[in-house]
Amino acid sequence: MIIPARPLEGKVRSRQLGAEQRGGWSPVKRQMVDMLAELIKIPSDPFSDKQEVLDYVQSFTDQIHMRNTLFGDPSAPALLAEFGQGGVVLSGHLDTPPVGDYWSFSQSQLASGRMYGRGAADMKGTVIAMLEAAQDLVARKIPVVLAFTTDEETSMQGAMALAKTLPLRRAKAVVVGEPTGLRVAHAEKGVLDLAIETRGKAAHGAMPHLGENASGKMMRILRGLESFKGRIAHPELGTVTLNIGTFNGGTRLNVVPNKCTAEVDIRFPPPYTPDQLYHEIEEHLRRIKTPFTLRRILTMPAVQIDPNAEHVRLLRDVAQAETTVLVHASEAVHYTQVNSRVVIFGAGEEELSHQANEYVKVEAVARATEVYKKYAQRLATARSAG
Ligand SMILES: [Zn+2]
Repeated sequence: MIIPARPLEGKVRSRQLGAEQRGGWSPVKRQMVDMLAELIKIPSDPFSDKQEVLDYVQSFTDQIHMRNTLFGDPSAPALLAEFGQGGVVLSGHLDTPPVGDYWSFSQSQLASGRMYGRGAADMKGTVIAMLEAAQDLVARKIPVVLAFTTDEETSMQGAMALAKTLPLRRAKAVVVGEPTGLRVAHAEKGVLDLAIETRGKAAHGAMPHLGENASGKMMRILRGLESFKGRIAHPELGTVTLNIGTFNGGTRLNVVPNKCTAEVDIRFPPPYTPDQLYHEIEEHLRRIKTPFTLRRILTMPAVQIDPNAEHVRLLRDVAQAETTVLVHASEAVHYTQVNSRVVIFGAGEEELSHQANEYVKVEAVARATEVYKKYAQRLATARSAG
């Protein structure tokens, strides 16, 4: 793994940006690109101290006179920055997966109108759009709340803490900035991560008939699992998918394995619930007549927001965008528990998340900024919440 470069010290303007690319840009766009370059350079993978990335964002919300409050675990704090009441909540996460290998661009490199770097699409580009929008909204005295977490990629404790706050519960709309490619997303798949274990009996590899092969049993279970289709299909999110992520059986070549474990990542569409799917899968596997134990590692419900709800239609109108759905789970899971007026809209493209050469288009960040501004303004003047 490549450890990300140290961030720029203080407010050093990004020298790596080519002058010719910046030439035609307005001061506002230059500020946006410089801030994005700086934010990408601040390490925010699961192993890094989140204080630095949070400080960067908070120094900005301080400067524009928003009221800042920290929530959640001090090792992964979440920031709520408020201006006024009864408006929109723009929510995002500041953490990223590790940078990883096989990059052909450096972190924060600008090329052909794209800013490359870990988190550019998911979702530092969108965070910058939200900050830029907030700056303008505060200046025009339009209410806006920013909700930023630092543990979305790991535990989502920050979102759980923020979901308990009044601004999240009462907002006329909560926009989750996950990458949607500037489309309006109203559904997400849920997660059911399972650990399976089979037991056998050890014996010498030359006399396998004296033992019971736990790996062989696991292979039967997994073959059975691969034939599982599920009863529910969603018109846009499709059916259940599963990935056999790990498989560990045996200790030596010439010993019959007495234990085997596997982990499976299952993603499912609404209206499945994790429990309902778990029981369907268990029932399906019991038919294979091979003993096993099954354990939930992680579950996250699927998200379904009414695509015709007032707040979704308003965002579609403002963004002049089509609707879409997301196959990965986001903090929308927690916000929909406390507020039905959640919607997902971000500048990045979902397919680029967590990939090498992740990027965001500078134009898409600028466009997202405009959409957030207009949406906040329309919501603030709307008589009632949709
Ligand atoms: Zn994300």
